[in-house]
Amino acid sequence: MNKVAKNLGLYLVLVVAVVTMVNSFLTPEELQKDYEEISYSQFTKELEAGNIKILQIRNNTVPGESSSAVIQGELAGGERFLTYGLNVSDIAEKAAAKGITVTVEAPQRNVWWVSLLTSLFPTLLLIGVWVYFMNNMQPGGSGRLNAFGRTKAKLYMDNKPKIKFDAVAGCEEAKEELQEVIEFLKDPEKFKKLGAKVPKGVLLVGPPGTGKTLLARAAAGEANVPFFSTSGSEFVEMLVGVGAARVRDLFTQAKKYQPCLIFIDELDAVGRHRGAGLGGGHDEREQTLNQILVELDGFDDNGNTILIAATNRPDILDPALLRPGRFDRHIVVDKPDVRGREEILKVHMKDKKFADDVDAVVLARRTPGLVGADMENIVNEAALLAARKDRDKITMEDLEEGIERVMAGPERKSRLISEQEKKIIAYHESGHAIVAKILPGADPVHKISIIPRGHAALGYTLQLPEKDKFLISKSELMNRIAILLSGRVSEEIIFNDVTSGAANDLERATKIARQMVTELGMSDSLGLVKLGNRRQEIFLGRDISEDRNYSEEVAYAIDKEVKAIIDECYERAKEILTERQSLLDKIANVLLEREVIDAEELDKLMKEEDKETPPELPELRVDTLPNPSRDFLA
Ligand code: ADP
Ligand code: MG
Ligand code: ZN
Repeated sequence: MNKVAKNLGLYLVLVVAVVTMVNSFLTPEELQKDYEEISYSQFTKELEAGNIKILQIRNNTVPGESSSAVIQGELAGGERFLTYGLNVSDIAEKAAAKGITVTVEAPQRNVWWVSLLTSLFPTLLLIGVWVYFMNNMQPGGSGRLNAFGRTKAKLYMDNKPKIKFDAVAGCEEAKEELQEVIEFLKDPEKFKKLGAKVPKGVLLVGPPGTGKTLLARAAAGEANVPFFSTSGSEFVEMLVGVGAARVRDLFTQAKKYQPCLIFIDELDAVGRHRGAGLGGGHDEREQTLNQILVELDGFDDNGNTILIAATNRPDILDPALLRPGRFDRHIVVDKPDVRGREEILKVHMKDKKFADDVDAVVLARRTPGLVGADMENIVNEAALLAARKDRDKITMEDLEEGIERVMAGPERKSRLISEQEKKIIAYHESGHAIVAKILPGADPVHKISIIPRGHAALGYTLQLPEKDKFLISKSELMNRIAILLSGRVSEEIIFNDVTSGAANDLERATKIARQMVTELGMSDSLGLVKLGNRRQEIFLGRDISEDRNYSEEVAYAIDKEVKAIIDECYERAKEILTERQSLLDKIANVLLEREVIDAEELDKLMKEEDKETPPELPELRVDTLPNPSRDFLA
């Protein structure tokens, strides 16, 4: 966007280099070129002898220094000479008296700023290089130095976003809430006449990929007003004051286009708790945040600007941002449910060709936990696959593969795996699958595969819940742990040895067990307490840190309890698999042969061997991310 600024460092280096070169042209070396340098005494001798035809004196005076001069001339014989003298006026007088043509030139070289630049050259060069690299290092590195305080918000004036609400699916509540804002932007007077206060700041909160950015653009499209779109990270700069200046500029600009809509994406980049982080104190981010607060407060009541911001980390936002009069309206854009996913799929399937068997309902059911961006991705992957296979329509098969790609990464058939390893993987996955089938209430197994996928998993067992679930029982959690451990158990039973392949299983199992004890009050010995204060990235489900608020003794008790849970589940899995070794052999062999077993096939294999059909599912269920267990992590 701003190449000039980006290359500023480079230009600086160039300028300095040119100046240095020019300066070097002006130095005595140049004068010496065609001249023979003679000593001063030689020169006076020649002068006395009247041997000199022309004399040229260049004063070399530098202010504050004693004067000296470059004396050059031509001897009677035509040879040119050059020497340096001190008492210039004497020489000139003497020579003139002898009738020699004398020219005296004013000081010319060593202009002070040139010499200054020359002496500073190495420093300037370093600064130049530094600026250059800093510019390149900056994320989105453009427009640093000269565009400093100007906002980088994109203004969509003439080409206002064309997308409308129908491009956003599966978040009806959010759309409804935004409707009010849109009505206001369309006709602010209507609201003002009634003295109604419309929220000035709206915060869209939700996990990544749920369509927050899309929703904001669609809102601008619906309202058909100028739309300033920027991102929190654009206010975060190296130099103190720049971010604040940009905020000021953004709001000044916006005022000119009222009624309008300002959108700040990823607000958490600047809106973090003040005083948090290592820098502490009054740093750049704080200034920027303060400026935003000032601008929000400055939105006077007759202003027609509305600010929408989006974040997936509302928990880390500075509370001041969320106060009444600021971002006081929160709109949650949550992960879509089955219906939502179906709608989103339909939006993205609109302008593509599909075979008749393609059913958005079925696809939506297979993608619990996925968000809008994933759905878009699935359709796109499927389209790519269909194109690669030279089909003119996208089939259900393509879409299924698309789902798996999005969930577990692309197949990596080229990865070379030895026969023995393959066998271990097959038994490991069969173990997961059988235990998942046997245990009541476990999510149905959708697919077992020993084709490597993604960057890490060598095999996986994909379990998909039948519906979106919001609650989970203790026994279900125990089952889940048992299923996670069963891959390892299977290896142990069959090979009498274990591999590193279960690392991810163990990690997840331990995490569940720990949560049961410390958060869910599911441990008899520790009881109904919440232990430790987990700070989570709430929408990413990732732990950031844990404040321990319990003693060493309790920590010990927790560890013991976690181990007890794991052990119990392990025994359970072991019991199930030990009893069914022949089934394990059978499924593993089929898997080795075909590499993939789907739900129906697995059902058939299980029925032949095991008369026990999996019992009915209990009513209350909880959602799980359909993460296939990533086995055999490298
Ligand atoms: P966020 O800002 O919440 O991280 P985005 O708005 O950037 O998510 O979504 C990325 C893309 O995913 C969008 O451009 C859109 O194509 C698709 N998408 C996400 N959510 C939806 C939705 N609810 N309806 C339709 N498409 C969606
Ligand atoms: Mg976004
Ligand atoms: Zn496993």
